[in-house]
Amino acid sequence: MPARPAQVSAPPPRFPRDAWALAALEREGLLPAYAAERLRAEAPEWVAAAVVDQGLAPADQVAVILASAARVPVANLDRVEPAAVQFLTETVARQHAALPLSATNKAIRIATANPLDYDAERALGFVAGRQVEFQYALPGPLARRLDEVYRPERSIERLVSGLGAQATIETVVEERDAGETASASVEAPAARLVDATIADAVRERASDIHFEPGESGLVIRYRVDGVMREVMRVPRSAAGAVTRRLKITAKLDISDPLHPQDGRTAARVDGKAWDLRVSSIPISRYGEKIVVRLLDPASATLKLDAIGLWPDEMAAVEGLLGNRDGIVLVTGPTGSGKTSTLYAALDRVRTTGINVVTVEDPVEYHLPGVNQIQVSEKSGLTFAAALRSVLRQDPDVVLLGEIRDLETAQTAWQAALSGHFVLSTLHTNDAAASIARLRDIGVEAFKLASALRGVLAQRLLRRLCPRCSEPVSAESLPRAARPPQGFERPVTVKAAEGCSHCGFTGYRGRFAIEEILTVDGTIAELIARGSLGDQIVESARRYGMRTLWEAGIRRVWTGETAYDEVVRVVGEPPVKAAVTAMPAAAPATEPTVPLVLVADDDPAMRTLEGAILQAEGFAVVAAEDGVAALEQAQRLQPAILLLDMDMPRLDGFGVLEALRRRLTGRSVPVIVVTAHDDPVTETRCIELGAEDYITKPIQPARLVARIRAVLRRTGVIQ
Ligand SMILES: [Zn+2]
Repeated sequence: MPARPAQVSAPPPRFPRDAWALAALEREGLLPAYAAERLRAEAPEWVAAAVVDQGLAPADQVAVILASAARVPVANLDRVEPAAVQFLTETVARQHAALPLSATNKAIRIATANPLDYDAERALGFVAGRQVEFQYALPGPLARRLDEVYRPERSIERLVSGLGAQATIETVVEERDAGETASASVEAPAARLVDATIADAVRERASDIHFEPGESGLVIRYRVDGVMREVMRVPRSAAGAVTRRLKITAKLDISDPLHPQDGRTAARVDGKAWDLRVSSIPISRYGEKIVVRLLDPASATLKLDAIGLWPDEMAAVEGLLGNRDGIVLVTGPTGSGKTSTLYAALDRVRTTGINVVTVEDPVEYHLPGVNQIQVSEKSGLTFAAALRSVLRQDPDVVLLGEIRDLETAQTAWQAALSGHFVLSTLHTNDAAASIARLRDIGVEAFKLASALRGVLAQRLLRRLCPRCSEPVSAESLPRAARPPQGFERPVTVKAAEGCSHCGFTGYRGRFAIEEILTVDGTIAELIARGSLGDQIVESARRYGMRTLWEAGIRRVWTGETAYDEVVRVVGEPPVKAAVTAMPAAAPATEPTVPLVLVADDDPAMRTLEGAILQAEGFAVVAAEDGVAALEQAQRLQPAILLLDMDMPRLDGFGVLEALRRRLTGRSVPVIVVTAHDDPVTETRCIELGAEDYITKPIQPARLVARIRAVLRRTGVIQ
């Protein structure tokens, strides 16, 4: 039999094909008499379609009434077994407005808009060679589903045209494999859909696109301003073609759907270049989930003042970045903008003549003039190993992608304690948690206190849409949202309804808020003594630190964001905890444990002296050379400095001279601990202001006795 072209509507019928539906809807009181009269005169092809299209009754109600009138169930069109489809050709299916849903050896279940058509039932039963069980479906959805099942390219074209403006995208695509089995009719539309989706996502300011397969097809979602939004569903029959196209675009292996894969490609949208990171993850029996990350290469040149900080936050950040050695950490959960801030910070400290090296996994953005090293755990180039090799080139500034383990932490600390400035990230919620986390993975308290210059805990809050946000009464805010202390600006609390400018979310764009812990004298002492969490936060707040919650609430009172957004991102308001059981360490205001700074370039000596002093109840920090010793002494104001004479960068004499010159206020008592057992050196040290002079090898009891004597003289202990 020669194939005929598919016909959806042949010559206009004299009667509606579902004429019985008119009486059924009238009987149930769903159709007023005048409307029924008009439909009789119009004689549409399908009564049910006309009723729904003209808005005379809701679709689901019409379906339920007509199914019950025909004594069949309502069909679920999402459940179409591909195996059942093959029993009916497209022509037969369209002719009878029938879609196979499932089949057994004896029966075939078919969705139809006309279950009372017994001729159709006989004909379909004959063609399929099975007993027919009808279910009811409205003509409109049924026709769309027929398209999806038999003509997937049509439904893709409909999605593409729904995306509006044509994409001007240039993706690099390799030739298809010779063994490619997919029908060419779907490939071209699938390619257009992928391109149009990427262009659309860019215009919607999405950071990534998720293609997630499920029972009803491929769900496409965008993440915009950190929040996922569903944008369309691709019918299951076309899902494979779209997934395949995405994988080909990123040069992933389309013959392997069972293993996660990563790839990349580039695209140009509206004249601007984008990097696309494509990853495939096998997630279910429906296939692979594909995630496309959209990276704007311009983000690499992101400036610190573009992340939306308040002036005081900016000043504190700049203060931390003014360090020339030590470590500054940026912390926060995934999606808190850590990496962007890190790059912006790097941009700030980068000046000509400074040697900057990065160690990353992966290298996200390429920075001109910067030596960037890609970590590769597979081939043994771990963060720690890469960092060690980098340090041999003696860079001034190191950007270390992330500190995940003790080995990396130890290498980072070693770099920071020997005159390098290290910027890195940590996956913790806030500044205090970072201290706890570093202690957890094994960084000793005295090393933490010695090298850590500060922690930036960061979150991104969505900015209320400028077009549709309106001032609202501050009365609408819960009590937890009291204006922050010292808040002097005029109050402008706002809320947004949503409009086309913001994708009807009420928000457009994001800005960063920071909790900035600056590790200076008091905080360093607390850390050196092993204090954690609450105690550090308490003390830092006394010195003006703002918690993330406070930083967020402040932006509510300026009308930049909404209270709900702060709760969504930062979490529920903090409960004012009653005084919890105090740990053994003393509170910040009355330090009773003397802090001792050990300056020695020999790690064995630092460890030995540290162990002796800690056993005697002292808090210990360390410095690896003279410059670090001087810097630590000024910053931490220790109760005593144990000073080695032979150190790189600046020897003991240099430290003593500089201390005498620079410190006008409280002076730091110095005990020289040296291998030089000669009266000339000793005399000179005492002349330069040293309190005492001990020669190596040291004897623990003697060392402690001398320290106590000095501390008694300076009034630190009784
Ligand atoms: Zn809006």
